[in-house]
Amino acid sequence: MNKQTTSQTGTKVQQQTKKYLNYINGEWVASVSGKFSKNVNPATGECLGEVPQSTKEDVDLAVLAAKKAQKSWRIVPAPERAEILYEVGRLLKEKKEELSQILTSEMGKVIAEARGEVQEAIDMAYYMAGEGRRLFGDTVPSELRNKFAMSVRVPVGIAGLITPWNFPIAIASWKSLPALVAGNAVVWKPASETPFLAAEFVKIYEEAGLPKGLLNLVFGSGGVVGNAIVEHPDIDIVSFTGSNEIGRQINERAGGMLKRTSLEMGGKNAVTVLEDANLDLAVDGIIWSAFGTAGQRCTACSRVIVHEAVKEELERKLLERVSKLKIGNGLDESVDVGPVINKASLKRIDNYVKIGVKEGAKLLCGGEILSGGEYDQGHYYAPTLFTDVTSDMTIAQEEIFGPVTSIIPVKSLEEAIEVNNSVEFGLSSSIFSQDVNRVFQAMRDLDTGIVYVNAGTTGAEIHLPFGGTKGTGNGHRDSGVAALDVFTEWRSVYVDYSGTLQRAQIDNK
Ligand code: NAP
Repeated sequence: MNKQTTSQTGTKVQQQTKKYLNYINGEWVASVSGKFSKNVNPATGECLGEVPQSTKEDVDLAVLAAKKAQKSWRIVPAPERAEILYEVGRLLKEKKEELSQILTSEMGKVIAEARGEVQEAIDMAYYMAGEGRRLFGDTVPSELRNKFAMSVRVPVGIAGLITPWNFPIAIASWKSLPALVAGNAVVWKPASETPFLAAEFVKIYEEAGLPKGLLNLVFGSGGVVGNAIVEHPDIDIVSFTGSNEIGRQINERAGGMLKRTSLEMGGKNAVTVLEDANLDLAVDGIIWSAFGTAGQRCTACSRVIVHEAVKEELERKLLERVSKLKIGNGLDESVDVGPVINKASLKRIDNYVKIGVKEGAKLLCGGEILSGGEYDQGHYYAPTLFTDVTSDMTIAQEEIFGPVTSIIPVKSLEEAIEVNNSVEFGLSSSIFSQDVNRVFQAMRDLDTGIVYVNAGTTGAEIHLPFGGTKGTGNGHRDSGVAALDVFTEWRSVYVDYSGTLQRAQIDNK
């Protein structure tokens, strides 16, 4: 696809923009709709290219291919499947910079963070490749003589993956790699905002030698393609990461069909700063967690719960640091905070800020859509700090998903824990303190799936389970060995080598 632009010398030049197709049964194919949607850079408003607007029929074709391919994949020895994952890891490493540039261009996060995200996919590839030689089950003693008992993992079948735009390759790696190493086939719908990186990731699987039909990529809207995945009778498990609103709908629809769903949803994460904390360290943790990825992380620090004895000092230090943040196009290495994903997001964030002011929170800085110069081409929001926020305010309860954080003063650790746990989400929390006794109390009582001590709310490592309690999830976890539980069934196997019919204890006593 070409578009005409004017060069610096004023001549008209034809510039190439990209066009990707769906990947079904090992072929790059157009959607049966023949229609395409645009992929836009949130920093500049530039159209990067197009991807198909697929339909239910495209999903049907992808599922058909997946079913056929999975029949033989499930009996390929797992260490042999893993060989392909090692190659995926190697290729990701080789193409790290290229992938990071694409990530920043279509999603907006600053380039250093994009590199970190691609690294996460590399780590996950090697980690899950290792699982090809483990996939541990249990062997246990039988109750009876001459009888052997064990449990083994078997693949679930066809996995439908639905992923968000904020971590377009990390989250796709958390889901596709364990699904494939465990012997499943995959149909993947990436977020509409970040299609190119999805296509590049699939190209890597293709180059690594993944047999055709095992990984199918279908671009298109959540309402059409996502829905078709959720409702397809031959998709056995739906692994979704995204908003609570959509996750809840998926759970209801897929649950009605008795499908397994693994849901990773929103967060309202808090950093707690006690009076004995190293305040400079706490400030580092808060700035990174609240404003990294322009606050668009499920683990973003959206609340700062601070002991009243150090509140003023913390506010002063935070304000000083926020004033130094450079906001702009994430491809510029000197930029700290990139744009938010789109105009709707910008408006939603601004609306939350207005609600905060109306409900009586004190705005310390930010609180505006940035304009003028390069800001007019993209979607930029000023890093925003509120203080004197109370736990019942809207901005202290709802996920904002932008560069906004709220300082909530408290009088004790017990009150801090109560405030931390007062939201409907339970993804990540953090505590800054030098007191080992209070730290252990917090580790016990903070009701979140991830707890950090003397670090911000972000920074998960791929070999630990990732996910949350309460409204954040439905009990499953991405990454770590726990991810294998999502994509496998347990099979208990009993082998009786006594030569007689031995009745089990249950039928004997
Ligand atoms: P979203 O709007 O829920 O979208 C997530 C995915 O679901 C996208 O691929 C979307 O497709 C698709 N979708 C939309 N409507 C659908 C439907 N009716 N049926 C099936 N699929 C549908 O979320 P988002 O805005 O992309 O992501 C931000 C959210 O993700 C935040 O709440 C964040 O906290 C959460 N998140 C959670 C985690 C975690 O691990 N807990 C990690 C990252 C992000 P389209 O793109 O085409 O709309």
